[in-house]
Amino acid sequence: MAIIITDECINCGACEPECPNTAIYEGSETWKYKDGTNLAGNTVTLPNGEVINADTKQEPISDEVYFIAPNKCTECIGFHEEPQCAAVCPVDCCVPDEDHVETREELLAKQAFLHQ
Ligand code: SF4
Ligand code: SF4
Repeated sequence: MAIIITDECINCGACEPECPNTAIYEGSETWKYKDGTNLAGNTVTLPNGEVINADTKQEPISDEVYFIAPNKCTECIGFHEEPQCAAVCPVDCCVPDEDHVETREELLAKQAFLHQ
């Protein structure tokens, strides 16, 4: 399951440097799949079957608060015992994203894929 940042976020920025997948961005920032991963090229097929361009700027998911790119979030599996964003967030607004549910095995495969 990916983690999502709710609109309770106070934009403190504490979570961003903690993400091992560079999945967290400041509100209104564009982002790329290749940031902090080994993904490259314009036709990358993700483990979920989505075909993406790793080099292209993606639109921000939120203009108001920090956001997480769900396809880059592994819930920190493969790196840490618990989601690091949730561990440092002072207002507990990094929560499980019910719209992006994945098993531990899927998250491990995703982590390996992002950093292959
Ligand atoms: Fe990044 Fe881990 Fe938070 Fe996902 S749970 S956004 S991988 S810090
Ligand atoms: Fe927002 Fe929490 Fe991240 Fe601070 S640590 S930017 S409050 S999600």
